[in-house]
Amino acid sequence: MNIVLLGAPGAGKGTQADKLVDEFGTPHISTGDMLRAAVAAGTPLGQKAKSFMDAGELVPDEVIIGLVSERLNEPDTEAGFILDGFPRTTAQAVALDAELSKLSRPLDTALLIDVDPEVIIARLTNRRICRECGHIGTAADEKCPVCGGEMYQRDDDNEATVRNRLDVYEKQTSPLIDYYRGCDRLVTIDGDRDPNVVYADVKEALHLV
Ligand code: AMP
Repeated sequence: MNIVLLGAPGAGKGTQADKLVDEFGTPHISTGDMLRAAVAAGTPLGQKAKSFMDAGELVPDEVIIGLVSERLNEPDTEAGFILDGFPRTTAQAVALDAELSKLSRPLDTALLIDVDPEVIIARLTNRRICRECGHIGTAADEKCPVCGGEMYQRDDDNEATVRNRLDVYEKQTSPLIDYYRGCDRLVTIDGDRDPNVVYADVKEALHLV
């Protein structure tokens, strides 16, 4: 499966990608995770990306396109990949198509996980993540329910930044819905349901059942 997960921040792309990875072992390429790892490691890329991320703005296209192209050239992606959080602009989508055409590995599906913005604001401000295993939980989880690790809130999950991220999504990323619809690769799924119910639809849409 060569797929792109589309949807606003907090729509559940990471959760659905985790489920696909658990069941099928396909590499999950999350640009947000890659950038957060670079910030934590203090690399030049991380230093460049941090101020954009803290403000809820997009990191410049040329930075992120190079990062994803490199990752797609690693051999573990030959049998498939799940892109999460990329592309986020039309320039990134065009660059992705060019890279995949060079690799003779066309995209199968762009899967849009659709959730109302007000639901997203409530979800993201309540989201907590496990420092140990990456489990995505809520403010009600004092410890990680999976491994007992410490739960933390992402710097960009405060309400003001979440609203800006949704604004950025609306302006810069939502045009990609038409981009993928136009080339018949778009499938839309209602993401405002229990994650397991959403996952059943994801598998059906990807012809995995
Ligand atoms: P995410 O974890 O996908 O919500 O991404 C967190 C932040 O990383 C975003 O708000 C952006 O600042 C940055 N980011 C992640 N992916 C991209 C991308 N494809 N293009 C530009 N910036 C990105």
